Amino acid sequence: MSKPKINLLGLSRAGLERYFLEQGEQRFRAEQILKWIHQQGVKDFAAMTNLSVALRGKLETIAEISLPEVVGEQLSTDGTRKWLLRVDPQNSIEMVFIPENSRGTLCISSQAGCALNCAFCATAKQGFGRNLSSAEIIGQLWLARQLLAETADAPRITNVVLMGMGEPLLNFEAIAPALDLMIDDCAWGLAKRRVTVSTAGVVPGIKQLAEHCPVSLAVSLHAPDDALRDQLVPINRSYPIKELLTACRDYVADDRRAKITFEYVMLDGVNDSAKQAKALARLLEGIPSKVNLIPFNPFPGAEFQRSSQANIDRFREILSAAGLTTITRRPRGQDIAAACGRLEGDILPRSQRIARLRAAKQASPNPRSHAPIGA
Ligand code: SAH
Repeated sequence: MSKPKINLLGLSRAGLERYFLEQGEQRFRAEQILKWIHQQGVKDFAAMTNLSVALRGKLETIAEISLPEVVGEQLSTDGTRKWLLRVDPQNSIEMVFIPENSRGTLCISSQAGCALNCAFCATAKQGFGRNLSSAEIIGQLWLARQLLAETADAPRITNVVLMGMGEPLLNFEAIAPALDLMIDDCAWGLAKRRVTVSTAGVVPGIKQLAEHCPVSLAVSLHAPDDALRDQLVPINRSYPIKELLTACRDYVADDRRAKITFEYVMLDGVNDSAKQAKALARLLEGIPSKVNLIPFNPFPGAEFQRSSQANIDRFREILSAAGLTTITRRPRGQDIAAACGRLEGDILPRSQRIARLRAAKQASPNPRSHAPIGA
């Protein structure tokens, strides 16, 4: 049987250089291929006219550029677009494009499903499918650009956020080359600050990211104390707030302009009191930060309600008064289930899921257990 073809889409410059050297080809081929794939949007080797005819022929037999299949598209009344992509017969993912005045943000997935089981997230209810490959991650940019080019206003992708399905820092091996491609001038050429990795708080991953590719970091905090965070974001039991915030401080220590974005979903009667706002402000003291308040986006079967506007405003004012730059994120794409935490793909549901969460606020402090992730 012939060897399976290697998908060049997911290889970073370093990976492509290694690949071409192994093939007895010259290193600079990497740069040529990067430009064809990621700048020109070409996936047919025959069209790569600055490669020798012999190399084009060889690549056709041993390599490929293959992408997830687009199986659905929805357009929101606010201009937000959501696509459903099939990555294999069992797993699909979603990506979302959010147009704003001066920018266009693409929200991409890093895993099919998610293993983290955050109490307020629709993806969690679907369980974990599998890690995406780097080709499936960067392939989302490739597909989105092509799909957007076909629309009437053909908006540009100016920012990328890994805030779709999955926990990016539990798939570091695949996000690393994808991030490299996003910031490589011969590929996507995005500035580091225009690429954001959002994490529920995987501390070792934050350290890896700092070393490998310090793009913007967003941290889904959602609670000002461990007792509540253990309930809302169960990975907190492995990496409690103090450890997480130390990793955040270290992440921005070498860059005077860098800030961590802390995301805080506003859950009615759970984490939205004035007392909790003050506790949050104290917690973030001394960390260069921005706070994004995300009004909870309900989904069928959700056990939370969105905080009232008055509570959201009060929360924001307390943080602002404490000197924290705080914005309330405007929910986008609500009519097409494209808002934060509503992405579901069509992962097979995990049967034993759904630990019911009641009165999370009164939960007694858990001893720090080091349960495996997703347990
Ligand atoms: N696993 C990563 C990225 C995915 S979620 C992380 O946790 O950061 C992207 C953001 O949406 C996170 O801040 C997440 O907590 C938030 N989110 C999840 N469900 C939500 C919901 N129902 N309403 C509002 N925000 C939600």
